[in-house]
Amino acid sequence: MESISTFDIFKIGVGPSSSHTMGPWRAAEAFCKYLAVKNVLGHVSRVKCDLYGSLAKTGIGHGTDIAVMLGLGGEDPVTCDTSGIDARIAAIRDAGRLRLAGSRGIAFDYERDILFNKSESLPFHPNGMTLTAYLEPDSGHAAASISQTYFSIGGGFIVQEHSDAPPSHHVKLPFPIETGDDLLRHCQQQGKSIPEIAIANELAWRNEDQVRAGVLNIWHVMLECIHRGCHTPGTLPGGLNVTRRASGMNEGLLAEKTSFDPAAVTHETAANLEVWRSAVRSCRQDFAHTLKWVSCFALAVNEENAAFGRVVTAPTNGAAGVIPAVLCFYDMFSRPDEARIIDFMLAAAQVGILFKKGATISAAMGGCQAEIGVSSAMAAAGLVQAMGGSPARVLMAAEIAMEHHLGMTCDPIGGLVQIPCIERNTMGAIKAITAANIAMDSDPASAKVSLDGVIRTMWETAQDMNSKYKETADGGLAVNISVGISEC
Ligand code: SF4
Repeated sequence: MESISTFDIFKIGVGPSSSHTMGPWRAAEAFCKYLAVKNVLGHVSRVKCDLYGSLAKTGIGHGTDIAVMLGLGGEDPVTCDTSGIDARIAAIRDAGRLRLAGSRGIAFDYERDILFNKSESLPFHPNGMTLTAYLEPDSGHAAASISQTYFSIGGGFIVQEHSDAPPSHHVKLPFPIETGDDLLRHCQQQGKSIPEIAIANELAWRNEDQVRAGVLNIWHVMLECIHRGCHTPGTLPGGLNVTRRASGMNEGLLAEKTSFDPAAVTHETAANLEVWRSAVRSCRQDFAHTLKWVSCFALAVNEENAAFGRVVTAPTNGAAGVIPAVLCFYDMFSRPDEARIIDFMLAAAQVGILFKKGATISAAMGGCQAEIGVSSAMAAAGLVQAMGGSPARVLMAAEIAMEHHLGMTCDPIGGLVQIPCIERNTMGAIKAITAANIAMDSDPASAKVSLDGVIRTMWETAQDMNSKYKETADGGLAVNISVGISEC
């Protein structure tokens, strides 16, 4: 039984994709560590990366090549300067060299050393990649090269075909949870809420203060991402020429408050997150305006994600805007204390863990239901928890949110995480809020569909779904909309 932490589900990283950017980045890092363990890092003359299946088909649009170069170069996605990524990649390509693991310069020819094997897929998982290091003759290693194959299985998780789960996933939890029924049973037997059960399990890895501080840090990274996205106009990279819309919406909504000078307030709110937070809270809060703010928050995150900005994988990057948008909506308009923010995040993470264990959070395995659908279910659960709903209501909200995402395909135009992805986050957020409200007004005992039932259904739907709708850009909008760029 694998033990998954809240901090496995929420991870700070870089856009645009958890499976196609974060996973390959981590795989490249892992390969460098493997070379170090084998004592050959100082004898590598060249590294080649073969991408297969979905990683090959949508790799350029999802920045897989960039992630591999940064990972091989020893950069950390949690702390690296995202604003300089373009320049650093250009420098590697221009010089034909990269600093392996951040230390030793090796030759690196982009055309030769990153191969998109679009017609090949590895049987274990559609997101496969093989890294090969060619060794100098004096390496002392028996072979002239050394290879490892990794699979990016969604949410930034990587595995190897015959490897075990990482040691941290083997810890024994006081409340093992595989299904929604397990979670509910622990809550009922212990007389605890879902966040209380989650914290009891987190103590297997870290103390309670670290859990609370870590969760709040994740929330602040989400909030900073929304704030940045709400103040960054322009066009997204990749060739689709998609205009960023969150900053215009933010400016328009703030300007509707008559006492504001739009130019001055936008300047001030851009400079200071807390000033912006106060300004949003003082704006009109009728249904139409609140709805616009939720969309604005989600757009902001996913525009940052598409622009290789810093985001929180939640539980994926393509769907990174749903949970921040719903939590920001709750934060802005209900003004909760930190305890409720933490409760929201812990309950949301538990639902993400249930989907990861019972189905998938990989679009290459399950289409967009596995990304936007799961994030919507997580956000609905978090919101009900924060509003004081019972454990049964929390799970009911998650069920409702996923029920209305079942079968949703992944068909990113041009292989970029932009259309339909960015808008789709707004829809996931709105559905989450609706699901939470329905659950708060319903009797879970009379529900006909359980969360476990919908997770099982999602997994069966994923298995039946044609592979062209699983992050390949071979079907749906990706083939019906002509965009005039070559990728996919
Ligand atoms: S369509 Fe959905 S699953 Fe596919 S890349 Fe976009 S957000 Fe991710």
